[in-house]
Amino acid sequence: FFEARDVNLHFKDFHALRGISIQFERSDVLVVCGPSGSGKSTFIRAINRLAGSLSAGQILLGGQDIAAMPRRQLYRRIGMVFQRFNLFQHLSVLDNIALPQRRVLRRSRKDAAARAMELLARVGLESKASRYPAQLSGGQQQRVAICRALAMDPELLLFDEPTSALDPEMVGEVLQVMRELAASGMTMIVVTHEMGFARELATEVAFLDAGQLVEKAPPCEFFSQPKEARTRAFLNQIL
Ligand code: ATP
Ligand code: MG
Repeated sequence: FFEARDVNLHFKDFHALRGISIQFERSDVLVVCGPSGSGKSTFIRAINRLAGSLSAGQILLGGQDIAAMPRRQLYRRIGMVFQRFNLFQHLSVLDNIALPQRRVLRRSRKDAAARAMELLARVGLESKASRYPAQLSGGQQQRVAICRALAMDPELLLFDEPTSALDPEMVGEVLQVMRELAASGMTMIVVTHEMGFARELATEVAFLDAGQLVEKAPPCEFFSQPKEARTRAFLNQIL
């Protein structure tokens, strides 16, 4: 369902992604970890073309090259949740979720609002629909950001360190929403340092270092018998 084929990406002379190949199926959860600067954000940004074009290789979604997809289709099929919620500050919670549906999917005002309310109910935030982002906690804002991404009915959801900007007491509520998404069969790529989440929910864990995919394995194997010295060194640091 998803395939990265020998993905290479340069920022001018800097070789940020070096021959990354990965594939997985629908409903899989790929967790990506690695040290700061290893290319995790660049990799997931490359998937929705936020990092510029690849210098070599291909990324395929459902067999289609993302480089050839119109922007609108790309936004519809691939949702993204950032570390810093990135909500529109001047729009209410409801409008944050409804507006992209009207713009991108051409849903009616009524249908977009109904879908937004349904998603807010799913994450326990129905009562906050008319609030503005600044009136919500970080954990609540991140749950709204997840609703906004889900409202497009994406085929793939990308998360770039969704909990690392949150106060510790709010991490759990966001992970809970992600846990429910995984259980519902949503296909996800999650960059995170939450190794508990990785152990529990990842289909596979990928370790990046210096722009290379060093190792990829199911979590039981990845954590108990990492093959590569670089992976072991990383795990010793963070666990
Ligand atoms: P972190 O854990 O700190 O978020 P990361 O693994 O997400 O790190 P990236 O943000 O993907 O790392 O960055 C990978 C490398 O690419 C870094 O050396 C970074 O400086 C470089 N880089 C990222 N974006 C750009 C850019 N727009 N222009 C030039 N270099 C960039
Ligand atoms: Mg990053």
